[in-house]
Amino acid sequence: MKIYNTLTLKKEDFVPIEKNKIRMYVCGPTVYDLIHIGNARPMIVFDVFRRFMEFSGYEVIYVSNFTDIDDKIINRANEEKVDASDVAKKYIKEAIIDMESIGVKMPTFTPKATEEIDGMIELIQSLINKGHAYKVDDGTVYFDVSSFKEYGKLSHKNLDELIEGVRDIKVTGKDQKKNFNDFVLWKPAKEGEPKWSSPFCEGRPGWHTECCVMAPKYCGGSLDIHAGGEDLIFPHHENEIAQYESNTGKTFANYWMHNAFLRINNEKMSKSLGNFKTVREIISKYNGNIFRLFMLSTHYRSPLNFSIDSDGKKSPELESAKAIYQRVCTCVERLLEILNFDAPNLDDPKEQIKLYDTSISIEDNFLEYSDKDISDAFKSLKGFRMQFVDKLNDDLNTADALTAIYEIVNIANRFIKKHDEEKFACDDLFKYMLYLLLIFNKVMGINVINKKEDLDSEIEDLINARSEAKKNKDFKKADEIRETLLNKGIVIEDTREGVKWKRV
Ligand SMILES: [Zn+2]
Repeated sequence: MKIYNTLTLKKEDFVPIEKNKIRMYVCGPTVYDLIHIGNARPMIVFDVFRRFMEFSGYEVIYVSNFTDIDDKIINRANEEKVDASDVAKKYIKEAIIDMESIGVKMPTFTPKATEEIDGMIELIQSLINKGHAYKVDDGTVYFDVSSFKEYGKLSHKNLDELIEGVRDIKVTGKDQKKNFNDFVLWKPAKEGEPKWSSPFCEGRPGWHTECCVMAPKYCGGSLDIHAGGEDLIFPHHENEIAQYESNTGKTFANYWMHNAFLRINNEKMSKSLGNFKTVREIISKYNGNIFRLFMLSTHYRSPLNFSIDSDGKKSPELESAKAIYQRVCTCVERLLEILNFDAPNLDDPKEQIKLYDTSISIEDNFLEYSDKDISDAFKSLKGFRMQFVDKLNDDLNTADALTAIYEIVNIANRFIKKHDEEKFACDDLFKYMLYLLLIFNKVMGINVINKKEDLDSEIEDLINARSEAKKNKDFKKADEIRETLLNKGIVIEDTREGVKWKRV
């Protein structure tokens, strides 16, 4: 596996600290509202990284936090006249619902900042003792960036340049800061704010302190990989490094991965521009699998644009992801049908091993086929399987990995047609194609084992309207609806068990 490391600005071979194990931390959302599609990009991208590494045989400790104390949460609580902890609890619950709906596996641990305050106080005290932090008159504790020589190594800037990028934090005691870039480790509580007692003052920790306490605690020491959105490189991740490394003398994380921004209609997404889209909103129109496919169609380090029609209803990018998604689903459905297989349970690890082993054993034997068309197909399929894995091994190039999968679908569709028209049969070939697509399903977390609930509500309404028309003996209308459905690529059959449908 090669990973582009923000720390060195190079693609590097991935070597874990401990053999076959990965300790990974991804900065999670601040929970003051429903998660937006910008939050979803690192969630999906690094979830695929985790799935792929697990598929490749690693044990992955995947930690992602919820920031449950922050100015935004406090503001929201004041607006709604409730406790900040109620706001946080509510939106953690909602975030988990959304993460599930976009196929994100739950992290191994999801620590919350407010449950780790003791550890943060301990770290801050230790930094003061070691001369890396200092307290000013009002109780604010600052990290002294001049005490950490490597400050700026992640963002590749020197201290003067960093002055421009720093986010000014509204705290008292600012005039007593030693250096412009010194950042807050602990701040005194204002009237009515949540607070914790500490040796410094009654208050709460600064945002940058939480991750460098939770990450090593839950990952078990220094990290292999620390990841997040590129907006976190500075100051958040730079400040995490400064605290952890000056406190322990050890490297915080060997590899730093950052995903690029998601833009809406080629503009930055922000609440003030009014173009803020929640995951919930998108999922109500397109399912989580389609959304994932869209997200993964672009390499994670490239900016991703998402546009919406002027009427606000359709997204051209998601429409095209939807068409591709349906094409893969139909292909898998037909392969299951031809082989007379039930859809396997991909959550069962045994099933997963079986899929992989069987496809490899088919591969080992395919030279026995003398039919040139079949042996050529096997060869191409094997090539695309290897391309799929190679591309993911190359700094998680999901865009090119997906292209390999579409080639597999093209080959499969050709043989499905041959089966339908000429009664072509070759179980091994169909099995191999099916298994490759199921491996894709597992690694990308895109469910292509078609389910009825994936039907568009529009199509569902048409099927219901047709049943209604038939019940009312309005056969003309029923036939018209059947025709409309056919134009949408849906064939319906009336069976004793009710209406069945399939895509063509
Ligand atoms: Zn963080």
